[in-house]
Amino acid sequence: MAVDLAPDPDVADVARRTATFIRETVIPVEEEQHGVARSEEVRTTLQQAAKEAGVFAPHVAREYGGLGLDMRGRAAVFEEAGYSLLGPLALNIAAPDEGNTHMLEAIATDEQKARYLRPLAAGEVRSCFAMTEPAPGAGSDPSALTTRATRTADGWRIDGHKWFITGADGAGFAICMARTSGQPGEAGGATMFLVDGDNPGMKTVRHIDTLDESLYGGHVELVFDDCVVGEEAILGEVDEGFRYAQVRLGPARMTHCMRWLGIARRAQDIAVARAAERRLFGSRLGELGMVQQMIADNEIDIAASRGLILRACWELDQGGSAAQSTAVAKTFCAEAIWRVVDRAVQICGALGVSGDVLLSRYLREVRPFRIYDGSSETHRWAIARRVLRRHDAEAAR
Ligand SMILES: Cc1cc2nc3c(=O)[nH]c(=O)nc-3n(C[C@H](O)[C@H](O)[C@H](O)COP(=O)(O)OP(=O)(O)OC[C@H]3O[C@@H](n4cnc5c(N)ncnc54)[C@H](O)[C@@H]3O)c2cc1C
Repeated sequence: MAVDLAPDPDVADVARRTATFIRETVIPVEEEQHGVARSEEVRTTLQQAAKEAGVFAPHVAREYGGLGLDMRGRAAVFEEAGYSLLGPLALNIAAPDEGNTHMLEAIATDEQKARYLRPLAAGEVRSCFAMTEPAPGAGSDPSALTTRATRTADGWRIDGHKWFITGADGAGFAICMARTSGQPGEAGGATMFLVDGDNPGMKTVRHIDTLDESLYGGHVELVFDDCVVGEEAILGEVDEGFRYAQVRLGPARMTHCMRWLGIARRAQDIAVARAAERRLFGSRLGELGMVQQMIADNEIDIAASRGLILRACWELDQGGSAAQSTAVAKTFCAEAIWRVVDRAVQICGALGVSGDVLLSRYLREVRPFRIYDGSSETHRWAIARRVLRRHDAEAAR
């Protein structure tokens, strides 16, 4: 059977224009800012430039001002945007806004779309997704959720403690996961709430100092303390939060892979440029066998990552849950992308760990990806359980 993995011509055109925009407009800013955008001025200037280049919000439906790409289309464009750490921010496809946009499109009411989705899609506000809690609360095991929402006379009161909430500082709103029935350790009974950024009951405790720094707005510890919201704050239905989280998680896993694959390619390009010009032991660095092996292994990891992303995206585009294929792709990509950047550092020697090239920044940025969106161990555990279930079902026939 013939397999054609090339994107449609209109998607290929957006990808090409994105690559040009990243090279000509974003990379100079990335180099000047050492890979980390720390001001609203940088964010809004880059987003305005992306709008003018016609590559802004490629994932958003056309009625909300985007380009309406499906998951396979996103794979082509997000990888190009990810070639710079600031590319996703410029196109408004950075985490967590991109995943939240997707979920609001899928679940929000028309009123919620007008109030939250439209400004988010336009880059007028940012958002965050507040799920994870300090121990003993929700982390790898969501059923440990302790943040609780209690009914009041005219709405809900949320109380709880969250941490590692990316982008919370300055966010226009949070999507907060809170328990509405059952006890920690029980799976059911979670609900998603839209909480406005200026709600006095949602308080920032601190910015958490982390290995990575490039995700805009940082990683924040939050307390929900007598946080009062109305009935209209419920996203989807009461007690259906975990089910809705899957709507966000499958595609969000893949879009993280796409963006970080762009950085892996960039790291490889930096390493190859160095290997082509640096001379030692009478030859070019890239002609030494062990360096050739690292260059080749990088190509293999990049190509395999892209293939697994496309397979999972194809399944998502068909309307499938893609639980297994996204878990396989996420686990492989998170580890392969890390290997690529790590080898690129090795090829560049001391230069690779210096601040003179952005490789050391990339290494710090990709390491946490093996933990968030499901750690490698959580995914392997889930993948193996599905395989055993499949075996048991076949054996019972
Ligand atoms: C940079 C970054 C950004 C983040 N952004 C957000 C955000 O915006 N919103 C949000 O809600 N959360 C966010 N998180 C939190 C993230 O989702 C959690 O860190 C993740 O779910 C793991 O939870 P945990 O840290 O509590 O680790 P734990 O649940 O304590 O797990 C610790 C380790 O246990 C191992 N493990 C897990 N499951 C298994 C298993 N089944 N078998 C064997 N070993 C296992 C893994 O090695 C795992 O790393 C972010 C995290 C990071 C690092």
